[in-house]
Amino acid sequence: MKKKANEQKPTIFTIFGGTGDLAARKLIPALYNLFLDGYMPKEFTIVGLGRTEYNDESYKEVLLDGLNKYSRSGVADPAKWGEFSSNIIYLQSDASKEKTYKDLEQIIADRDEQWAEAATVIHYLSVAPQFFPVISEYISKIKMAGGKEKCRIVIEKPFGRDLETAKELNELLQSLFDESQIYRIDHYLGKETVQNMMAFRFANALFEPIWNRNFIEHVQISVTEDIGIEDRGGYYDGSGALRDMLQNHILQVLCLVAMEPPVSFNADEVRNRRVDVLKAIRRFGPEEVKHNAVRGQYAGGWVGGKEVNGYREEKGVDPNSNTETFCAFKFFIDNWRWQNVPFYVRTGKRMHQKSSVISIQFKDVPHPIFPSHASENWQQNRLIISIQPEMSIRLQVQAKRPGLDMILNPVDMVFDYDGTYPKESPEAYETLLLDAMEGDQTLFMRGDQVEAAWELLMPVIDNWEGRKSLNFPNYPADSWGPEIAEALIAKDGFHWFTMPVKSKSKKK
Ligand code: NAP
Repeated sequence: MKKKANEQKPTIFTIFGGTGDLAARKLIPALYNLFLDGYMPKEFTIVGLGRTEYNDESYKEVLLDGLNKYSRSGVADPAKWGEFSSNIIYLQSDASKEKTYKDLEQIIADRDEQWAEAATVIHYLSVAPQFFPVISEYISKIKMAGGKEKCRIVIEKPFGRDLETAKELNELLQSLFDESQIYRIDHYLGKETVQNMMAFRFANALFEPIWNRNFIEHVQISVTEDIGIEDRGGYYDGSGALRDMLQNHILQVLCLVAMEPPVSFNADEVRNRRVDVLKAIRRFGPEEVKHNAVRGQYAGGWVGGKEVNGYREEKGVDPNSNTETFCAFKFFIDNWRWQNVPFYVRTGKRMHQKSSVISIQFKDVPHPIFPSHASENWQQNRLIISIQPEMSIRLQVQAKRPGLDMILNPVDMVFDYDGTYPKESPEAYETLLLDAMEGDQTLFMRGDQVEAAWELLMPVIDNWEGRKSLNFPNYPADSWGPEIAEALIAKDGFHWFTMPVKSKSKKK
């Protein structure tokens, strides 16, 4: 059970990048909501850091603005905000200067003196990756009354831009901290529906016996966004869909679908089983890159009656950019459970619909007994796990349509989060920040997991970077991606699953 306020240890959160977008949109709202729900310790301090000129009061005003706009709990109650924000201070500072860390050391020492117990200090690195080394070097030297073990460091994505840089960063972090102090965040792992994968698979005896190559025909994981790159051109053009979405979020979801049952819910046990999947995914040689990996880039077009730019016309993007805004892969997992079961994954921007969905298609019945007119709408059993915007699990089964004739129709058995749990679920960052406070690393990436994911994808990255795509842009805005992505799956006789649009969609 998560500890409530009176059981939590005194905690100091330092947010490097405290004036940035992530702090305003996600981190502060998450901490505030934890406070509202009674999970913040009785004694806590949040130190926002950045170079922008603010005092404590003007900084809090900016945070309140963000909170009112983005928090799932809506506009803040003035009394509650007053109580929460009395624990926030702003440290105007440059992350590359030693003085910043002397000031921080003093703040920590003051709190340790005031509070009955030495604080756990969580340093959240919500800054561009070039600052990760300098900040981690300095904070590893901060003296703390509670000793080194009370210091934790949370690293935002991207963790490296390839295997070599990820290894370098791991080596540096592991030379400064123990692995148990390092929290590499992948916020997808904190999402309710993603966490529920473990519950669904390992708390129900029903699915495990059929969760393998004998019963499952293929798996799809599709994470599509309807927006373009917005104002992130500068960042995105050096990254692309593979690095931004596939290397981290999608591969982690795939691990949860494909992992072996862990012997316990222990963090390392669970992470061992996840990394086993990454190690078992069939490696990509030049032929696999050609046949099993496709890339795309969006062209301009019309979305909701408004004309939108193509990727190469976006602000901050090279007009001849070779960066992919879409990618799709066919993976195989070489182990007993999954031999020859294709796992298709795709992700892209400016697509027809925002949706993150896992579709698990079961093999067909061994022998059809119904006449052809009864089975015109035949659909093999399918389990559909929708992560966003709808949060649901649907089991598609065939059923008889009411009437005098035997006509079969696919129907859904649905577990819908909204309907079952009317109270809004916590945001992923709430779960993850609370886990970091409690020292639970289950939903965080271990160093070897990050490296295994990069290692798998390096042949594709090298191939794509060394070979300019001649047909970019190759899919229009508001579409389902390039035709080659359809071909990737169609040549095996399948098609991409798309989630029917629900009229009411939840913000997540
Ligand atoms: P951002 O809005 O550009 O903020 C960057 C932050 O870095 C600002 O607070 C800036 O503060 C600070 N900064 C820059 N140079 C500094 C320096 N020399 N010393 C001290 N502070 C400095 O970026 P963001 O969107 O919040 O993203 C932060 C990190 O989270 C990045 O690694 C990003 O990849 C990751 N991330 C962001 C999101 C998101 O939704 N935004 C999602 C996933 C991951 P000053 O300008 O005040 O110095």
